[in-house]
Amino acid sequence: MAEPAPQPLPPGSTIGILGGGQLGRMTAVAAAELGYQCHIFCPTPGEPATQVTPLSTIAAYDDKEALSRFAQAVDVVTYEFENVPGDTAGFLASQRPVRPNPNVLRICQNRLREKDFLSSISVPTTPYAGAEGPDALARAAQLLGLPAVLKTVEMGYDGKGQVLLAREADTTAAWREMAGAQSAAQGILEGFVDFELEISVIVARGLDGTVTTYPPVENRHRNHILDETIVPAPISSAIAKAAETHAHRIAEALDLVGLIGVEMFVTKDGRVLVNELAPRPHNSGHWTQDGCVTSQFEQFVRAVAGLPLGSTERHSDVVMKNLLGEEANDWRAILSDPAAKLHLYGKSEARPGRKMGHVNRLSPKR
Ligand code: AMP
Repeated sequence: MAEPAPQPLPPGSTIGILGGGQLGRMTAVAAAELGYQCHIFCPTPGEPATQVTPLSTIAAYDDKEALSRFAQAVDVVTYEFENVPGDTAGFLASQRPVRPNPNVLRICQNRLREKDFLSSISVPTTPYAGAEGPDALARAAQLLGLPAVLKTVEMGYDGKGQVLLAREADTTAAWREMAGAQSAAQGILEGFVDFELEISVIVARGLDGTVTTYPPVENRHRNHILDETIVPAPISSAIAKAAETHAHRIAEALDLVGLIGVEMFVTKDGRVLVNELAPRPHNSGHWTQDGCVTSQFEQFVRAVAGLPLGSTERHSDVVMKNLLGEEANDWRAILSDPAAKLHLYGKSEARPGRKMGHVNRLSPKR
């Protein structure tokens, strides 16, 4: 007999979120607006997400007892960062629905697995080759040619663990720089893409299989960290269509229930290559809070709770600017700009490069 279709979780239910950062915080606020409670599980007290909901468990991700108590206290589990240990997600999945499913995490937390997955569904990526040591790296460099970018397979973000190999690069030195003190480091070498611009698409898929995408946006980075998101991206409708089609295919193939940020390069000859997947709300989707009918955070909550997805219609043009470190001290000036919507994350220490907040500057839709 066919299993009955899973039912939506009614408002009043509790959503468990692994991770206590700003993405969890903004998700918890969006959930509260729809009448849900959020319970945050994270290893350190005082994190941004725990400030906006009374329900939290502060424990290590491998603390099975704490995880069991957390599972008992929630109706569904999700995560706001992709480095949740696979064992943690698997353990929770035996007790509660985990959305997106743990296999999505498994794929997205390993760059090699992610690229193999994309290739298997014919979504174009940068040329790449795995490298398990300096000798394999030298072979990969021969295969792909230089320049190229060497990245750690796991735990890399915002350009951390990345080394650019110039045309005459010393691959042994590059390996040492990437691997650092890690003895069992795994690397991936990617062909260097001399891109025209970087774009991203936020895609959501509901429990009923409905897929929605937000329009593609342009992302500008400073020191490898997202600086500004420009909405809409200055691209042709054909490129926008290609980007949305890739995102759609990825969500379907992952059997996604939740939301993914798909980062892409647009090459000078008009190809759209997928660089990276983030299975959670994404920094380049923050503009949706003030530029769309449904924000990415509300859409994420809707998907995870099994509700119908909302409209992704954009009603304004937006420039989203991240406030890094001391930049957040400009809150007074930002608040005096009538076109600006300020979002701060409640972090007490403004370390250089740390994401403290963002501002969405709106203008009429062109
Ligand atoms: P990632 O951690 O993969 O998102 O990379 C961070 C940033 O480094 C990207 O947003 C790009 O600006 C740059 N980058 C990463 N991979 C490549 C590549 N294969 N070619 C050129 N630039 C890259």
